[in-house]
Amino acid sequence: MSSGGDDEAIFPRSFVRQTLTAVRGQGVYIEDADGKRYLDACGGSAVVAIGHGVQEVVAVLSEQASRLAYVHSSQFYAPVAYELASFLQGKFPDRSQNVRVHFTSGGSEAIETAVKIVRQYWLSRNQPQRTRILSRRQSYHGATLGALALSGSLRRRRPFEPLLPPVDHISACFCYRCPLGLEFPACDLACGQELEQAITKVGPDKVAGFILEPVVGASSGAVPPEGYLRLVREICDRQGILLIADEVMTGAGRTGTYFAVEHWNLVPDIILLGKGLTSGYAPLGAVLAGEKVWRQIQQGTGGLDHGFTYQAHPPSVATGLAVQRYIEKNALVDRARDRGAYLAKRLEELRALPCVGDVRGKGLLQTVEFVADKKTCEPFPAEVKFSDRLFDALQERGVVVYPMRGIADGNKGDHILIAPPFIIEEQQIDFLVEQIAAALQEMGQETG
Ligand code: PLP
Repeated sequence: MSSGGDDEAIFPRSFVRQTLTAVRGQGVYIEDADGKRYLDACGGSAVVAIGHGVQEVVAVLSEQASRLAYVHSSQFYAPVAYELASFLQGKFPDRSQNVRVHFTSGGSEAIETAVKIVRQYWLSRNQPQRTRILSRRQSYHGATLGALALSGSLRRRRPFEPLLPPVDHISACFCYRCPLGLEFPACDLACGQELEQAITKVGPDKVAGFILEPVVGASSGAVPPEGYLRLVREICDRQGILLIADEVMTGAGRTGTYFAVEHWNLVPDIILLGKGLTSGYAPLGAVLAGEKVWRQIQQGTGGLDHGFTYQAHPPSVATGLAVQRYIEKNALVDRARDRGAYLAKRLEELRALPCVGDVRGKGLLQTVEFVADKKTCEPFPAEVKFSDRLFDALQERGVVVYPMRGIADGNKGDHILIAPPFIIEEQQIDFLVEQIAAALQEMGQETG
């Protein structure tokens, strides 16, 4: 392990599985303490966008830290906070709107902030009874208790269930394992229609908003069929509730457009960013609040009764600005689209293997799901630990992917997330797909 520290000083995520020690990153590669190189095929958890080791970003981070490392956002903002906010304003899907940006230290904090913004919006409108935010099953919005309550991922909720405030979840929009047992387009988007039914059930005057991941991240990778997001927008408008798009994983270019909602021309009332905003060079999240939202709060309560110590942290926002400019200068959103199309095409070839049930995704956010029986989509028994074993086999081969379990019922079901940096080359994608095929073969699963 050779970390130079005490291996047993860290309280790790797992006391069962060993975590490697990484010492260096360059481009799409991570190097461990023994000098072994890994292709970072998932950018950590879909974080690394511009690649590791980009020195011009590091220089900005270091320069900002040396000039002004910290101010409290109730007293000062650093100039770079205004600059990054203006940059993001220009990216909002409806360019005619003058959105306002609130910075946090990551995705979960952005979710918590959005919940409080929604609450204060309704307080400002003199409708304090609107307290309920609806969400979807098989979703993930973060690890803090509020964000976890919104999350529908059974596996992640289970240990903490008694601590979570009640949230009404509607069906996931997940065609491969349709929770309603229907097929698109004959289903008439019944999963989307459920939103209206849920609002009626809860009481239309009690609902404050609805949150969704436009393309679901780690908990399924599901991509909505045509018409779903339009339907959701129509229902939110009809019912007068706010629509929040959690783009913590999909935002800043990962799916091949700056925001994933742009694929379907959806304009949410609030958009959340994290991960790719700084490409991992510093912790940062952001809440983009549409004009009707922040103006209402401005006129109502006069401000947001909320704040974190590291809100708009100068080195983090400077890093975010440097990363976003780097993405723009190098046309990396287009790159994510093109390399994403190539990755999807190559991953499709894996469908020929008996254990590959589905390949889905958008841009450089792709998911491969594994099944014991392709016809029935029956997953492997949980004891097989299929995705963990695949992760191990790939790690051995110098490739890192993001394994997940529980997609079928919170316990059974295996998939991996593939979300490499946008700079990945086609031959590196070829290598990645070959290694997945070889690892599956090695696991003896290619024949079912
Ligand atoms: N929302 C989505 C869609 C995510 O994928 C995540 C993290 O994986 C979060 C929110 C939480 O972000 P963070 O882990 O930065 O708190």
